[in-house]
Amino acid sequence: MRNQLIKKLEQKGINDPVVLQAMAKVPRHFFLDEAFLEHAYQDKAFPIGEGQTISQPYTVAVQTQLLQLSPGLKVLEIGTGSGYQCSILAELGCKVYSIERIKSLHDKAKSLLTHMGYKVNFYCGDGTLGIPAHAPYDRIIVTAGAPIVPDSLLNQLNNNGMLVIPVGDTGTQKMLRITKGQTGSIQTQEFGNFSFVPLKGTNGWK
Ligand code: SAM
Repeated sequence: MRNQLIKKLEQKGINDPVVLQAMAKVPRHFFLDEAFLEHAYQDKAFPIGEGQTISQPYTVAVQTQLLQLSPGLKVLEIGTGSGYQCSILAELGCKVYSIERIKSLHDKAKSLLTHMGYKVNFYCGDGTLGIPAHAPYDRIIVTAGAPIVPDSLLNQLNNNGMLVIPVGDTGTQKMLRITKGQTGSIQTQEFGNFSFVPLKGTNGWK
C-alpha cells in the first residue's frame, strides 16, 4: 500500500528520489490510531485528535521537496503534530528541531519517534517565535497555515537558507518558499494552494 502511495505521488509530480525513498521507508500507519489503519496510505489528511491533522502525504512530499534537503542540514519544523513530517526530515539525515504547541501531541510524537529510533530535538511551545536558542537554521518548515510570514522565523534563518510556509486565510493558503541569499536578501516563490489547520500564537492567528 505504501508503494502504491509513492506511485501516486510520482504521478502527481513529486520527482525528488530522496523524498520518495524516505516516504517509501517510513511506516505512516504508525502515526494513526490502530482503528484507522486503512486510512494510512490514502493520499489525504486525517484527524490526530485535539482538532489537528496529520498532513496529506502529497503535502508532506511537496514541502519536503521544496526544502531541497541534504544530510546534516539543521532544520526547524513548526507544528510537530503526529510527528510524521518530522520523521521524514530525520530519515533524510537532517538535524531536526520540532516544536508543537499542544502538549499531548508533543508527548505522543516524542515518544513514538524515540521508539522508532529517530533522534529529534522536541520542544513544546509557541513555534511562531521559532526557537532562538538554537538559531540559525538552514531550513524552516511551517506545517500550519500562517496569516503572515513571521519576522521571528526569517530572523532565525541562515544565509543561503530556505523557509517553506503556507500563508493565507484560515481556509486556503499559498505555499511559499522564501530563500535568504548570501548577503541576507530575500526571494519569495509561490507553489500553489493548500489547506492547513491554523498556525496559532503570537505571530499567528489569535
Ligand atoms: N507536521 C505535522 C504532521 O506531520 O503530522 C502536521 C500537523 S498539523 C497539520 C499542524 C500542527 O501545527 C498542529 O499539531 C498544531 O497544533 C500545530 N501548531 C499550530 N500552531 C502552532 C504554533 N504556534 N507552534 C507550534 N505548533 C503549532
